[in-house]
Amino acid sequence: MRQEDLDVLRAMPVATPTMIINGKPLMAKTGATLNVVSPIDGTLLTKIPDASEADVNVAITSARRSFDSGAWSRTQPILRKKIMLAWADLIDKHAIELAVLGVRDNGTEISMAYKAEPMSAANTIRYYAESIDKIYGEVAPTDPSTLAMILKEPIGVVGAIVPWNFPLMISAWKIAPALAMGNSFVLKPSEVASLSVLRMVALAHEAGLPDGVLNVVTGAGPVSGRALAMSMDVDALAFTGSGLVGRTLLEAAANSNLKRVFLELGGKSPHIVFDDAHDLDSAAQAVVMGIFRNSGQVCIAGSRLLVQHTIHDAFVEKIVNLTEKMKVGDPLDLQTQIGAISSEAHLRRIQNALHGVDSIASGGFQILSETGGYYMAPTIVTDMGVDDRLVREEVFGPVLTVSRFKDELDAVTQANASELGLAAGVWTSDLGRAHRMVAKINSGVVHVNTYGGADNTVPLGGYKQSGNGYDKSLHAIEKFINNKTAWIKL
Ligand code: NAD
Repeated sequence: MRQEDLDVLRAMPVATPTMIINGKPLMAKTGATLNVVSPIDGTLLTKIPDASEADVNVAITSARRSFDSGAWSRTQPILRKKIMLAWADLIDKHAIELAVLGVRDNGTEISMAYKAEPMSAANTIRYYAESIDKIYGEVAPTDPSTLAMILKEPIGVVGAIVPWNFPLMISAWKIAPALAMGNSFVLKPSEVASLSVLRMVALAHEAGLPDGVLNVVTGAGPVSGRALAMSMDVDALAFTGSGLVGRTLLEAAANSNLKRVFLELGGKSPHIVFDDAHDLDSAAQAVVMGIFRNSGQVCIAGSRLLVQHTIHDAFVEKIVNLTEKMKVGDPLDLQTQIGAISSEAHLRRIQNALHGVDSIASGGFQILSETGGYYMAPTIVTDMGVDDRLVREEVFGPVLTVSRFKDELDAVTQANASELGLAAGVWTSDLGRAHRMVAKINSGVVHVNTYGGADNTVPLGGYKQSGNGYDKSLHAIEKFINNKTAWIKL
C-alpha cells in the first residue's frame, strides 16, 4: 500500500450507492435516503437508500425464491466453491479500493482496516469455500435392521444484521458459512458503514453468484433491521452489535416465527497483568494496542486493565508514556495509529461516559476538531473499582480503566465481576497460573502473554451477556444447517 494511492482514492467521488436485491441495484421504493457523513472531516460523502419494511420483504422474497429454485442450494458443491473462491480473489484485487471506501465511511485507521477488512473477509470466504466439500453427513450406529442417516441441509433464508466496526470482516463471518452450506441470504449493514459492504456484495455477483442468493438492504436499524427480525420467512438471524438491540431481536423472533437468533454482542474485557510477567514492556505495548486500535471500537478491546498492586504505579507510567506517543488523526495516513470515532453521535456517547470522572491519567477530551472530524484522545482512567459505571458498562471507545488487584483470587473475582464475557488477557510467566486463569475466567476467549490474535480456524463467541453461538471456525457452520435424520428400514 502506498500513500500516493490512498490519496488518489480518497479524493474520488463516491458512486451513488444502491441496495442489491435479486442481483439488481435498487433504491428504496419511497425514494428515502440517509446521509452518509465521513468521520474523517464531517463532510457529506453520499446518501444510502433508507429501506422500508416493504423493501426488506422484496429482498426476503428474492432470497426465498432463489433458495427454492435450487440454483445455489442444490447446485454441485464444487461450483459453489469455485464461485466463492472467485469472489475472494475479486475482493483481494479490489482490496485497497474497498479498504479506503470503508475508512471514509467509518474512520478506522487504514493500517488496520486494510488487513482486518478486505484481506480478512477474502480469507474468511476462502476458508468456508474450502469447507464445502469436506463437511459430511453421518450414519448413526443404530440397530443393524435400520439405517439412520444424518443429512446436513441448508436451513433456507438467513438474515444478518451487522455493526459499523469491521463491516466487511463481520459480514463475511456470517455470509461465508451460510452460503457455503447452500443458504440464501439478506444482509443489513449498519447505516454508519454500508458503502464497502455494498461494493463487496456487487463483487460476489461479478464472480458469478446467482441472482437472489445474496441480497443487501440498507437503512435505519429500527426499520429495516427490525423487518428482518420480524419476518415470518427468515429462518435464522445472525447479529453482531449491542446487547440492547440483541434483546429486541430475541423478542422479535418470539413474536414472529421463532427463527434461530445468534448474537455476538459487546464486551468489557479484562486485561490482567501479574507482577511475574516476564516482559512488562511487551505487556504494556499489548495493553495499549489492545484497547486503542480502531479507537477502542473493537468488540474484544481490553478495556479494563487489572494490574497487580506491587507493579501498579510503574506499569501505569509505562502505558501513559506509550499512549501519549500514539499518533491519532487522519485514518488515511499510513503513519496514523488511531483513526476517527465512527460518528459524531458516538463521539458524544463516549464523552458522556466520561462525564464526572476525575481520575483521568491521560486524554479524556476531543481533539482535532478543526478538521471537522470526530477524534478523541486515547484516555486512561485510574483508581477504578468493580462498582464504577465506567468499569461495568461498555464504552466502545478509546477509554481504558485501571484497577489494582492483590492476588490471583482477587484478579479472577474482579475479572468475572461483569455481565459480559467476550475476551480477556493474562500476563504471567507462571504456567500453572496461566492455566488456572484460563479455566477460571468466564469469557469466550482468554489470551495469555498476547492479546487480540485472530484466525479463521478459531471460534469467536461470548459467554454471559456477550452473546450465544460462534462466528469463525467450523463451529460457525452449525448455525446455518439442519441435521435431518432419515430412518430407513433395511
Ligand atoms: P448496534 O446494536 O447499535 O447496531 C448494530 C446493527 O443493528 C446495525 O446494523 C443497526 O442498524 C441495527 N439495528 C439498530 N437498531 C435495530 C433494531 N431496533 N432492530 C434491528 N436492527 C437494529 O451496534 P453498533 O453500535 O453498530 O456496534 C457496536 C456494538 O457491536 C458494540 O456493542 C460492540 O461490542 C458490538 N460488537 C460485537 C462484536 C462481537 O463479535 N461480539 C463485534 C463487533 C461489534
